[in-house]
Order: sequence, then C-alpha cells, then structure tokens
Amino acid sequence: MRKGSGITGMKRDTQKAFLKDKTYRLEITGLTQEGQGVGKIDGFVVFVDTVLPGETVTVKIVRQTKSYAVGRLIKVEKPSPHRVEPFCPVFEQCGGCAVQHMTYPAQLEFKKDIVVQSLRRIGGLENVKVLDTIGMSSPYKYRNKVQYPVGRQDKEIKIGFYESRSHNIIDSAQCDIQPSESNEIRGLVRDFCNSNGISIYDETTGKGLLRHVMVRKGFKTNELMVVLVINGSKLPGDGALVEMLTGKYPDIKSIMLNLNTKNTNIILGDRNICLFGQAFISDYIGKYRFDISPLSFFQVNPVQTEVLYGKALEYAQLSGSETVFDLYCGIGTISLFLSEKAKRVIGVEVVPDAIRDAQKNAGLNNVTNTQFMVGEAEKVIPQLYAQGIRADVVVVDPPRKGCDEVLLNTLVEMQPSRIVYVSCNPSTLARDLKYLSEKGFEVKEVQPVDMFPWTGHVECVIMMTYCGSEDK
Ligand code: SAH
Repeated sequence: MRKGSGITGMKRDTQKAFLKDKTYRLEITGLTQEGQGVGKIDGFVVFVDTVLPGETVTVKIVRQTKSYAVGRLIKVEKPSPHRVEPFCPVFEQCGGCAVQHMTYPAQLEFKKDIVVQSLRRIGGLENVKVLDTIGMSSPYKYRNKVQYPVGRQDKEIKIGFYESRSHNIIDSAQCDIQPSESNEIRGLVRDFCNSNGISIYDETTGKGLLRHVMVRKGFKTNELMVVLVINGSKLPGDGALVEMLTGKYPDIKSIMLNLNTKNTNIILGDRNICLFGQAFISDYIGKYRFDISPLSFFQVNPVQTEVLYGKALEYAQLSGSETVFDLYCGIGTISLFLSEKAKRVIGVEVVPDAIRDAQKNAGLNNVTNTQFMVGEAEKVIPQLYAQGIRADVVVVDPPRKGCDEVLLNTLVEMQPSRIVYVSCNPSTLARDLKYLSEKGFEVKEVQPVDMFPWTGHVECVIMMTYCGSEDK
C-alpha cells in the first residue's frame, strides 16, 4: 500500500462525517460556467443545481470529494429577484437545460459575465470591450435537431431525454426547445413500436433493435428528416411507419434507417438506408443553401447562427481583396458566408466527410473562390505558411479545447491584419487570447451570442487586430 494513504483516507472520512447526508443553509455567491450555483460551508466549496447568486438556500449534501461537495436543493429560503418558475415540468430531472429557473434577460447577463470573468481571470485581459449578449426574441423551439434515446423502463417503451447524469429516460414531457413536429413524431414512433412489437435496444446486453430517433428540421424550408437508428439492418413494418409519418407530415422529405450495431455511446453508425424520399434535407443560412444528411454537422440553432456569422463577417472587415483562412471550417458554412466579400477563402477541417460536404455546398451555391483542405489546422497552416501562402484575415472556430499552440504561433509569425475568433468555450478562448495578446495582437471587441437559451453554454465572436499593422 502507498505510504501515507491511510492518513489521506482518514482525513477524507472526517470530512465526509462533517458534510455528507446532512442539511445545511448557505448563501449562493456565484455560478459555474455550466450554470451550477456555488456556495461555501465553513470555507468548503459546495455546488448546487437550480439556484441563483444572492439566494439563501437549504441543501442536503449528496456527494463529497476532497475538494468540494454537491448539495441537493431542499428549499430556497431567500429567492433572487431573477428567479422564475421553469416552464418545463421536468426541468430539475432532465439533463438538457441548466438555467430555466432564471429570467431570460438575467441569463444573457450571466453569459456576458462568464465571458468577462474568464477573460479577466484566465486571460489577464482587464479592459476588453465585451458587448451585451445577443439573445433571441423568442428563445423557444430553436433547435433544428433532436436525438431521442429509446429504452424500456418498467416494461414501457420510453423515447425522450436522459435524466441529468444518468441513462434513465424521461419521456413524459413535451420539450419546448424543439419544434413541435419533433415531439409529435416521437409519439408516433412510440405508438408504432408498441403496436408492432418492435424490440428496443438494451445498452447493458447490446440486444434489441431501436436505439435512437433523430428528427431534423430545415427552419427556412420546413423540410423534415426522420432517422431511426437501429441495431440491425431492417425495421419490421417500416412501410406502415413511412405511410403513417408521411401521411401526417407532408413536410417529411426524408426517412432514413441508420445502422449502428456497435455497443457504444456514439449515437449514429456509418451506414444509412433511405426508406423514403431523399437521403438529405436542405436548409439555408443567410442566402446559402446546405444539404444536410444524417451524419452532417450543422449548427443546431440556425437563427442565432446567422447572427453569429453575420458578426464574424462584420469583424473580418473584408474589402474583396483578401485571402481568408477559415480554420475548423466544418461543412464550410463560415467560408461561404465570407466568400462573397473576399478574394478567396481557404477552409481547413480535420473530418474528411465534412470537407466533402463543404465542397458540395460551395458547388450548390455557385461559389468558386473557396478551397477546402482536410487536415489538422496546426499541421496544414504551418505547411501553407512555409509555401508562402498567407492570409490577410484568419477566422478560427475551434472545438471546446481551443486552438493548438503550434497554430497560434504560426499566426503570430504570419501576422494577418485581423483574427476573428469564434468560440464555444470562454476558458480556452481566454487562454488563446492571452497568448495572442502577448505576441502582438489586440482584442478589439467581444460579442457573446446566445446559441443555446436555457443552458449554460455561451458562444462568442471576437475581433483581434495585429498591432503592428494597425496604424498603417
Ligand atoms: N465552423 C464550423 C464548425 C465548427 S465546430 C461551423 O460553424 O459549422 C469545430 C470543427 O473543428 C469541427 O468540425 C471539428 O471536426 C473540427 N476540428 C477539430 N479539431 C480540428 C483540428 N485540429 N483541425 C481542424 N479542424 C478541427
């Protein structure tokens, strides 16, 4: 046994005796980036769901580690003026939303504050201009894609959402951040499974057929796609299901079977079979059309995507003569958005399928000044730079882990006039802006955009300029 482990164990036990299973009254002093409340009991950090800063609450401690505890809310003793009744009856159980107990204007403030605090604490950036979060005029039914897990609980078929931190499925409620068609199609598929004896996938045994139901909607076209993810290659009675769904929803343009026979948490398999219509639906962002197949990545809030990309275009300040790099370009959405105002756009993305979609999308929209390359941005860009290919403006839209330092370093050497950073994670954003700020770039403006109302997520777009080129 490791030396000293007994002592650590003893200390932990003492702490457990001190907190676990007891109820405490505490004041909530802040919120995490995920929207969890933070307070302290005798200096020990406690996280609590569904509370707000400024509230006094009673909690029962349900979990404790060496450095923090988790409390379950028993009673709000003194509520915040920003508290509202959640609109969803299963808000507290469901893993989907985090801040439905907060007014929408307060959510927008909270998201701005997360960005300001991250820039200050992680980025050491004190006086950055952070604008108010752009919210939605109607923050409901905004998602264009939903993936319902299917399971069997107490002999009943459940199609719905996972409970928070569990794989129990809640299917009682209608979800008001999805379009109403998704909720209704879910009900029709459940009825079909019940009356046709369709077996349901069991993730513990790996047996059973239906795993997930995905519904996608083109918000501008109203086109619907239904994808039935199965652990097999055939869905018995599929003809009747197609007839029922398309009879009720003439906007369904595509019904697909997706085959996923792997015992994994990944929702979609690689193979698709078209049961009805086409293998894709179309939608528009701005004036650009995109064909979306079951496996395509497409931003889930199309209304706010247009706002976000509009801001990216504004920050790029293009005159028509620029070479632009769109790094982490996905299916080329930002590239197309920028193409009209740039001389040429080079998009780089690591997923080959996404690049194929990007090329197809450029063709679909008769855009001829874009070029797409497969690879990691941190490998491709240093190579392009070594070949003398440079950008006047660089847009980056990395995943949550942010940009690789090799990429940032190449941008520092390349000295583009502007960098437009689109970020879904304020922490890694702050880290990367710190790096760039210390090496000649200046953060001009930060615009948070609310892409995911009622959740803790915040997206931002940032304009940076290269200081050396600024006064020229
Ligand atoms: N700009 C796109 C996609 C943004 S999501 C849009 O708005 O739709 C981030 C993308 O980065 C994903 O498509 C992911 O596949 C890609 N990616 C992740 N790591 C990468 C890397 N090292 N280099 C290039 N692309 C990467």
